Amino acid sequence: MTLPGKYQQDDPSGPDSGGAPETVDAVVVGTGFGGSVAALRLAEAGKSVVVMERGKAYPPGSFARSPAEMGRNFWDPDRGLYGLFDAWTFRGTEGLVSSGLGGGSLIYANVLLRKDPKWFVKESPVPGGGYENWPFSYEDLEPFYKDAEDMLQPVPYPYRDTPKTMAMEASAAALGLAIKRPPIAVTFTTAPGAEPGTNQPLAAAPYGSVHGERAVRTTCTLCGECDLGCNSGAKNSLDHTYLSAAQRAGADLRTLHDVRGIRPLGGTGSGTGYEVRYVVHDPENPEAPLLERIIRCRHLILGAGTFGSNFLLLRNRASLPALSETLGSRFSGNGDLLTFVMGAKIHNEGKVPATRTLSGSRGPVITTAIRVPDTEDGGSGRGYYVEDAGYPAFMNWLIETGQLGRVVRRTARVAGQLLKDRLFEARRSNISADLAAALGDGSLSASSLPLLGMGRDVPDGVLSLQDGRLAVDWTLATSTGYFGRVRKTMADIAGELGGDFVDNPLWWAKRVITVHPIGGAPAGRNPAEGVVDSYGEVFGYPGMFVVDGAAMPGPVGANPSLTIAAFAERACRRLLEGARPAARGIAPESQHDGGPVTSVRDAPATSVREAPGAVVDSPAESLRLLAPDATKGKAAKPERPAAPKPAATTRGLAPGMAKADTDASATSVSFTEQMHGWFSPGQSDPAKGHALGRDRDRRIMFELTITAPDIDAFVADPLHRATAEGYVLADQFGGRMPVEQGWFKQFVTDTSPDARPARRMLYRLWLRDPGGTPLTFTGFKLIHNEAGLDSWADTTTLYATVVRGHVPPPDPGRPPAAEWAPPDPAAVAGSGILRIRPLDFARQLTTFRAVGPAPLPALASFGNFFLGELWKVYGNRVSRIRR
Ligand SMILES: Cc1cc2nc3c(=O)[nH]c(=O)nc-3n(C[C@H](O)[C@H](O)[C@H](O)COP(=O)(O)OP(=O)(O)OC[C@H]3O[C@@H](n4cnc5c(N)ncnc54)[C@H](O)[C@@H]3O)c2cc1C
Ligand code: SF4
Repeated sequence: MTLPGKYQQDDPSGPDSGGAPETVDAVVVGTGFGGSVAALRLAEAGKSVVVMERGKAYPPGSFARSPAEMGRNFWDPDRGLYGLFDAWTFRGTEGLVSSGLGGGSLIYANVLLRKDPKWFVKESPVPGGGYENWPFSYEDLEPFYKDAEDMLQPVPYPYRDTPKTMAMEASAAALGLAIKRPPIAVTFTTAPGAEPGTNQPLAAAPYGSVHGERAVRTTCTLCGECDLGCNSGAKNSLDHTYLSAAQRAGADLRTLHDVRGIRPLGGTGSGTGYEVRYVVHDPENPEAPLLERIIRCRHLILGAGTFGSNFLLLRNRASLPALSETLGSRFSGNGDLLTFVMGAKIHNEGKVPATRTLSGSRGPVITTAIRVPDTEDGGSGRGYYVEDAGYPAFMNWLIETGQLGRVVRRTARVAGQLLKDRLFEARRSNISADLAAALGDGSLSASSLPLLGMGRDVPDGVLSLQDGRLAVDWTLATSTGYFGRVRKTMADIAGELGGDFVDNPLWWAKRVITVHPIGGAPAGRNPAEGVVDSYGEVFGYPGMFVVDGAAMPGPVGANPSLTIAAFAERACRRLLEGARPAARGIAPESQHDGGPVTSVRDAPATSVREAPGAVVDSPAESLRLLAPDATKGKAAKPERPAAPKPAATTRGLAPGMAKADTDASATSVSFTEQMHGWFSPGQSDPAKGHALGRDRDRRIMFELTITAPDIDAFVADPLHRATAEGYVLADQFGGRMPVEQGWFKQFVTDTSPDARPARRMLYRLWLRDPGGTPLTFTGFKLIHNEAGLDSWADTTTLYATVVRGHVPPPDPGRPPAAEWAPPDPAAVAGSGILRIRPLDFARQLTTFRAVGPAPLPALASFGNFFLGELWKVYGNRVSRIRR
């Protein structure tokens, strides 16, 4: 259902939870600069396009302003927050991005600069190894920059009397720095060429508005609130431009639609399309788990932003096994640095310095840009920009009240005067001047201005998953020279304005805050160099594109949005024209720069298949109830299958086990076990997987509750079967995966190579990664009598393998060894070794529970059985040692 002229916000209980999944030509994830461009260009070309945006829509006038509204204006569905700001904290950097229809354009400062032609560097060495390489050039992007500018209509700031703008221009002139008014995507006039004027109503765009006919836009009111969302609608943000045009062209825009899973249809490299799993948020009911839904498409366009697209790719790595090893690399904050000029003054010879008025809250957030060249274009060091960074008017109050000492002194002085008047009966009734004195002259806020620096820092940060959460490993250290130069220029500007140069407090903790995160799925010439090719198409996955900041192979240097939009324009042209060279500016890959070139279609197909005998379920059977926020990792709320497993898949449970929990005469015994280890994808030998995993810090753990529903039946059963519930957490498989169905067999009889008695404890767990790919975790502990007393090592060491597909346990009639027969290597997703840590074992001992008519005898029976089986294996050696 699409509402004409309005984005879709459908019923979260959803119609499409069963039956055949919806199928379209293209799914676009995210509505930032990459996603919005793709939505328009694909819809215009007649493709059926569904656009999924996790956030809400913000018509003019709906952006939060009051403290109460602002307090809830963050994105964290887990806590019932569905607002605009999505704030992150990582090692070495903080990050701020947006969540809403229009992505970062809703809160950005409107600057649309092109990337400097010479900053598209080629094989520029990165300290610590590797190099930064842009596989496309300025000339490749040029026509697409023009397309994006035509849509977003940026213009230089037109007013000539704005104090901060004039002050920046004067200081740059005095310091000999190159300054200009950069193009900003804000409407100042009612018609091209007309005189600018504030708060004048604007005519509707020819393509209408996603917000409907009643949404009125006006020219800029110079309120300085661009970073909070423009309530006047003067910003030419993506909802007012690309997305409105996309909707007019037929794109189906869906808000509060959060994509969670991706997997290729027809196998890796087939190019037959993609299955996308998503949830629809329900702000009215934030606590409830969300029903997963499925949509299928020929083309999948990721535009979820640097954090969003990387998170999706990292979480779905098991479903996308051919993804380049470079996934997560080349992260950069685009050299962002925030500092302040405080208390600017005008020094006149022989006179007391006067306050220099900068009025940081007057005018759009950014109006000027000073450019300092790079060694690539005549400078000395990495190039950068320094821009004025205005702020909303209410910040002036914070700045003033922040000087608590002065406020208290002023207020005390006025109160003292009023008391004196009262005591001496001064009979003064007008106290306006006293109140004005109490408020002060506001000189500090009037003479202060934030400065925002950005440029070519070193793109050596790494994005990864840690316990299922997004993590960034980035440090200032390699970019110290760059940041030193940016700070020096900022300090010079502060000095020229007669003010104090003040770092933002994070700087002293060696941290920065970035609003321009870049990289992680970098464009490269081949899969060894990047995740996507120079057109954004993912190596190994034809038809899947990354078109947002994640695909940038290094810092853009200038504000990056226009370059992201141009990159997306070029990607769409490629997609629509296939591999053929396009009429405008698209050179074949081989003509780019002489480097090794591989197109997506040449990427080696990875041979992966499901394990023989795997159960194939229908999409409806594989749907889950998911937590409202996937970013919480290990701490996420529990998730589970939406429907119970069909009866056929209970093979391997002991007779009567499935109904034992309702059998009043049976007593169950359960305990909870945690194991931790190292694991490697692609390895089929657990020992090798463990060693390699430890080298690369690839961890795996599980927490399982093992239940024998009827202890008597369990002890009597030769296979000693029980159930296993819980979760497996492995970042290589996208984080936490609930166990959909689990089997445990304790002390299955085996013999060691020297024909002595041995036992195996067997684990089989059905899992599913976020993309919906079914996986089976199989593992065994081998209890056998080797030299020395090794019962602790034996009973706490689990050799684990994960295979593709949901493989049921072998028929109980088959020899037990069928359980641990080596799997088909092509079906193996990885292997490793897990161990019980002593503390976890101590905790495990406290988790034994018996439920039923005879709990104590049941626990005793379990203990006797456990020790008895161990004695059968080790008793021989213990009695020999005693003798
Ligand atoms: C305060 C501030 C000021 C800025 N000023 C400027 C400026 O003046 N000029 C400039 O060039 N840049 C500026 N930027 C940066 C600019 O906003 C970003 O570089 C740009 O928006 C990145 O575009 P993108 O397409 O990569 O992703 P984004 O714009 O971040 O869009 C990603 C979208 O995807 C959605 N999403 C994420 N995950 C999912 C999911 N799983 N399912 C569905 N949807 C999802 C998000 O909600 C978001 O809407 C500023 C940023 C901030 C925060
Ligand atoms: S200054 Fe105010 S009106 Fe102008 S673009 Fe920014 S938020 Fe909108």
